Amino acid sequence: MRKPFIAGNWKMNVTDEEALQFVTQVTEKLPSSDKVEYALCAQAISLKGMKEKAVGTDLQIGAQNLHEEEKGAFTGEISAAALTSIGVKLAIIGHSERREMFNDTDERVNAKVKTALNHGITPILCVGELLEDRESGSADTVVKAQLEQALAGIESARAAEVVVAYEPVWAIGTGKSSTPEDAEAMCKTIREFLFDTYGPETANAIRIQYGGSVKPENIASYMAQDNIDGALVGGASIDVDSYLALIEET
Ligand code: 13P
Repeated sequence: MRKPFIAGNWKMNVTDEEALQFVTQVTEKLPSSDKVEYALCAQAISLKGMKEKAVGTDLQIGAQNLHEEEKGAFTGEISAAALTSIGVKLAIIGHSERREMFNDTDERVNAKVKTALNHGITPILCVGELLEDRESGSADTVVKAQLEQALAGIESARAAEVVVAYEPVWAIGTGKSSTPEDAEAMCKTIREFLFDTYGPETANAIRIQYGGSVKPENIASYMAQDNIDGALVGGASIDVDSYLALIEET
């Protein structure tokens, strides 16, 4: 049985002071993670402080990106080793905003997933089609190609540690969420792809999140679907009460 996993992606919206205040407030009220796992992915500058404030709780703290190389002349980038040195064991990889604006090609996403796994960091691997892909009927093909390239060369036992986040690009930050049925159809396609690639054990172990305008009011309708095991949430994860409500409604 897959344990649901709710991850907040704060993107570039929360200052360090706000991040620390959020963790202080939320940790007083978080439920145990027996039924639902939860995480917050923040700007790199806040990760250490958030980790310290979250000690003794089940709140996971994640990065929003990492660089694929071990170390070197990559000004402004964040290495997996730097993340693990402060205890961060989770990172979003290949978010559509990074694919679109920061040259996260499928090849680099693949390298980043490998680097994360090599360092014991759980990658939340983002995939998702553009509106034009959906309208032209090629959404499945696009998402499967993204997965195939992102997971190339990663064997079954390691792939089981990956979390896949299906985020249709047209649903991100638009308030235009996918219907639960459409989201389930794609997550089922993803599960089938994983089944064909890795066999039943790994395919059934991998958690698939839906992301795109998820909020407390609609999360239960996604969680009711067979192949949706959680959510990657942007805007609705930035408010303490809303974040707690997302976990509550899961
Ligand atoms: P929203 O929940 O704000 O639509 O953002 C989704 C997202 O991109 C999470 O990674």
